[in-house]
Amino acid sequence: MLIFSKKADLKAHLQHHIQAGTTIGFVPTMGALHSGHLSLMQQSVAQNGITVVSIFVNPTQFNNPEDLEKYPRTLEADAEKIQGLNRDIIIFAPTVDDMYEGHTISQHYNFDGLENQMEGAHRPGHFDGVGTVVKKLFEIVQPTRAYFGEKDFQQLQIVKKLVEKENMPIQIIGCPISREESGLAMSSRNERLSAEERHGAAFIYQVLQEARTRFAQESIDSVKSYVAQEFKAHPEFVPEYFEIADEDTLIPATLKENRKYRAFIAVFLGNVRLIDNISLN
Ligand code: AMP
Repeated sequence: MLIFSKKADLKAHLQHHIQAGTTIGFVPTMGALHSGHLSLMQQSVAQNGITVVSIFVNPTQFNNPEDLEKYPRTLEADAEKIQGLNRDIIIFAPTVDDMYEGHTISQHYNFDGLENQMEGAHRPGHFDGVGTVVKKLFEIVQPTRAYFGEKDFQQLQIVKKLVEKENMPIQIIGCPISREESGLAMSSRNERLSAEERHGAAFIYQVLQEARTRFAQESIDSVKSYVAQEFKAHPEFVPEYFEIADEDTLIPATLKENRKYRAFIAVFLGNVRLIDNISLN
């Protein structure tokens, strides 16, 4: 299995594939891989001649220094998981210096307002960091298709906007959320929960499912007050936001129209911040 730590080496290796017209599938990750990540890779392997997976904890997308510091880094175990899935997957695990060449700063992006909602509002600079690293990675890998999880639905929409605005000829493919048996959305951050917290965190998805059921009959206001009440009754969870938003614009909705809606939540359990979302119609 090939692991590259320098972008120049990866580019040189990919050159003959690009010249031969081989399709390149790309799965960007921050490592600490779980089955959610692996499902993205599986889809890429099925649809492309070669697959590249990047493992890079991108400093510019962290607005909280403690979160960046505590983010798990498990390259060896990650490489083993990837190898177990498919030995031909190419890993790109660069250093911060190789990616940023001494200038660890973000470019500023306008994603037509997508960046101002929810995660953007609560994590200043986050999507500038995401845009910056994804653009760099796309320029290095030059993928035919790139795979992103609906777990980070806002990020998925922003990456679609990025390639549209930058005229990059890359197909962005959204992949369904992988969940633990309890319903908790898989996340590298789940590792930081105690066993008891991890078990209890299934509550988040239960509330989302009940919100979906209620959304079919009730007003948006009424669904939101149901959710607020549930969290009041479970004070170990501290919600940062719960929104029902238009899937395309991500603008929070107040009245139901003939559009696609999704419920989005960010909630703290202890000092771990968890996000999830669910399609409502
Ligand atoms: P991360 O390593 O957290 O940056 O995630 C890398 C990619 O995997 C992103 O496109 C995520 O949306 C996706 N991902 C993370 N967790 C899940 C999950 N539970 N289900 C599906 N995709 C996921």
